[in-house]
Amino acid sequence: MSTGMEKIRMTTPLVEMDGDEMTRILWQMIKDELLLPYVDLKTEYYDLGLENRNATGDQVTVDSASATLKYGVAVKCATITPNGARMKEYNLKEMWKSPNGTIRAILDGTVFRAPILVKGIVPYVKNWTKPITIARHAYGDVYKNTEIKVPGAGRAELVFTGADGKEIRELIHDFDGAGIIQGIHNTEKSISSFARSCFAYAVDTRQDLWFSTKDTISKKYDHTFKDIFQEIYDREFKQKFAELGIEYFYTLIDDAVARVIRSEGGFIWACKNYDGDVMSDMVATAYGDLSMMTSVLVSPSGVYEYEAAHGTVQRHYYKHLKGEETSTNSTATIFAWTGALKKRGELDQNQELQDFADKLEQACIKTVEEGKMTKSLSLISTCENPVILNSLEFIRAIRATLEGLL
Ligand code: NAP
Ligand code: MG
Repeated sequence: MSTGMEKIRMTTPLVEMDGDEMTRILWQMIKDELLLPYVDLKTEYYDLGLENRNATGDQVTVDSASATLKYGVAVKCATITPNGARMKEYNLKEMWKSPNGTIRAILDGTVFRAPILVKGIVPYVKNWTKPITIARHAYGDVYKNTEIKVPGAGRAELVFTGADGKEIRELIHDFDGAGIIQGIHNTEKSISSFARSCFAYAVDTRQDLWFSTKDTISKKYDHTFKDIFQEIYDREFKQKFAELGIEYFYTLIDDAVARVIRSEGGFIWACKNYDGDVMSDMVATAYGDLSMMTSVLVSPSGVYEYEAAHGTVQRHYYKHLKGEETSTNSTATIFAWTGALKKRGELDQNQELQDFADKLEQACIKTVEEGKMTKSLSLISTCENPVILNSLEFIRAIRATLEGLL
């Protein structure tokens, strides 16, 4: 029982980034029902809800990222990325940038997404018995491109003018009619950060790391990715990998796709920006549901920010505002908290905190496996007679399971 039991102490605060809409409602429920009764929760609180981002000129987002660099571990609620409709809805002074983009730029991090596996939610790929974590490089390539729609005949060249004035010039194509051209780039700095984040996360989670590009076709561009990964691995991580018995494995992207499908999972798959965009949706869908996906941003220096992979679940929030019942799945948001608490516990050598986080994760999984779940989970579960719970009932069911485990 929780009452009378001494709460688990924390020494260093977590950076807490509150967010928007339905996930903001879940955030408070999770704290009230699953954390505050058991943990003497220490956080440095930043309200990244859109109203406060607007009121602070988005300074709060920058401050929360700086605090993350200072303390090393953050937990973030889903936030609205403003668009035209949100400008009106929230009467915004500016169309503020995506908080995730701002935080990622300050932390210089890579996002790792992994599914939460439970019995009864069967992946479409039947041999995937362990999670596959996708790491997507989040800078450059086609996402920062320059394009020309070629109107007719003419010559296209690639020109680089060095700071010293020296020119490098390559023929792209001599057009004899209309066509298209695209210029893309990346930087050694960004690729190196990406590589370091991937190797560090593989060490942290004791999983093999796979990396794939198309270096046989792209002999300079993609090959540079391959070379940078190999150099950083050989110089900084090879020994650590050997000690842990984990492996770094490079292969061509098409070979990787075939191997991933045949695999049992249980590794990290690092992808270039576009490959990661495509493959993360493929992998997420194949494992079941976005509401069962966790996400962690890892900086090359080993700073961690945990969140759910899904958004603010806007449609459910509007129902909630109308006083209607919602059945929103809080699992991924709970796992954001447990991920952060475990990492904090590890850094502070606080075993009790780590054990609590483990038990809370077990409680989430056990609750669903016993047939108590939210609406969206019941739709993809093989459970014969699921008990469908509303948002708060689901969290309270997890609490009841947790009480049994503590
Ligand atoms: P979303 O919030 O992920 O929700 C899309 C749909 O997926 C929901 O309407 C719901 O389907 C289902 N869903 C997602 N999470 C669920 C959960 N936990 N439990 C049950 N069902 C869930 O994406 P969105 O509606 O496209 O975006 C809403 C807002 O989130 C946007 O303003 C966007 O900018 C923001 N966003 C933020 C982040 C982030 O902070 N990391 C990421 C993505 C999007 P049904 O409605 O059919 O039940
Ligand atoms: Mg995408």
